[in-house]
Amino acid sequence: MVKEKLLVIGLDCAAPSLFFNRHLKNIPTLAKIQASGSRGTMRSSDPPITIPAWMCMATGHTPGQLGIYGFRHRKKKTYDDLWIASSLSIKKKTAWEILGEHGYRSIIVGIPPTFPVKPFNGNMITGFITPSTKNQFTHPPSLKEEILDKFGHYTFDVPFRIEDKSTLFDNLMQMTRERQAILEYLITEKPWDMFWFVEIGLDRMHHAFWKYFDENHKDHEPGNDFQDCIDKYERLLDDNVSRLIELVPDDTRIMVVSDHGAQPLMGGFCLNEWLRREGYLALAETPTRPTPLDRVAVNWPETKAWGAGGYYGRVFLNVKGREPEGTIPIAEYERERQALAEKLENIRDPEGNLLGVKAYTPQELYRRARGVAPDLIVYFQEMAWRSLGSVGVESLYSLENDTGPDDANHAQQGLMIFHDPRYPSGGQRIEGAEIYDILPTLLARYQIDAPSQLRGEVLLSRSLHDHAIE
Ligand SMILES: [Zn+2]
Repeated sequence: MVKEKLLVIGLDCAAPSLFFNRHLKNIPTLAKIQASGSRGTMRSSDPPITIPAWMCMATGHTPGQLGIYGFRHRKKKTYDDLWIASSLSIKKKTAWEILGEHGYRSIIVGIPPTFPVKPFNGNMITGFITPSTKNQFTHPPSLKEEILDKFGHYTFDVPFRIEDKSTLFDNLMQMTRERQAILEYLITEKPWDMFWFVEIGLDRMHHAFWKYFDENHKDHEPGNDFQDCIDKYERLLDDNVSRLIELVPDDTRIMVVSDHGAQPLMGGFCLNEWLRREGYLALAETPTRPTPLDRVAVNWPETKAWGAGGYYGRVFLNVKGREPEGTIPIAEYERERQALAEKLENIRDPEGNLLGVKAYTPQELYRRARGVAPDLIVYFQEMAWRSLGSVGVESLYSLENDTGPDDANHAQQGLMIFHDPRYPSGGQRIEGAEIYDILPTLLARYQIDAPSQLRGEVLLSRSLHDHAIE
């Protein structure tokens, strides 16, 4: 075994545009780490969504290999029977499981989805989809009592698509402060070789407060009451990071990672309403007001395709023998899918210009696609626009999200920073990093080869690993 201490700071939704440029002033500690270490943008998974992105990072596998394409998934051979991704859906080994097999101990806090908890060599608090502290949310199980005895409670997440922004801001600051106290406790009281936590609060801040600071956001109002909320939250995060660094041995290596980036949300495109108007989706009765598709009777024997809303669009084809009332013969499937992809990519914005739609087949994105993958994965203007699932809307374009207020959408480029205090690399740029590179890079620190046939590569191999063994 090699002596290696690695602190991995997971900042959900940390965007290069803010952390490398615009908001450096709020994050003196993270700025210092960037200046003395290495940094670069890091391409997220397709789709760049929290679930699956963290697990793509932790296992080195693609969403296609994991069979996880978001939060909710259709069950095979059904239209609207859904299952929610959890740790039980992850069949590949995570970094901490592999390290454990080699005798290394990890502390893992808040990585999604780690609930329900699975035993490994170390300590864990599960991530934001954990229902409540009534559930078993720790490993070992006794850690739960310990945390609740010492800290009273634990907050996994807060509802963030709400109108009361003052309360939301207080709740997010509070949640992050509380988590920090527990991180400080674990980092000093428990043994570890790798300590990896994820703070989900930054993602919630971006979704709820982006328009208040960004003068380029369509809804920005100068001089608003919440203008400096993201600044304040970033200062809290940075202060927390600096305190953690003070608590770890001087030679601890520090890695900062985000699962995806963020950008202002410009609008929403009503995917199902478009499919209906184009003759792909038939409804028994068309509602006169905006209604989610699952509350409308669909005329399946007349339907060729339907979709789902979210940060990106998912389109499913209604295939004979695959769906309960499929209409597209399997021999026609590829042709129909390509024709629909082309139509989607020709969608225009309200001014008549191409909206900038990309419709991918899972086969274009992954070598294999397990589970029930969407037939098309659709990005609207590189996700500056959301996909909206409601039907019965007047216009195909909406400036509001149909599932509650939301100011930001995810962006494909997240970030990565690495700093070895003993071997500073002077702000070296990391080029072309992908989320899949993190697992092999992490394992290489401990001289462990990543599982074979992964697409990721060890980042910074020279500067990182010449110094790995002393
Ligand atoms: Zn995320």
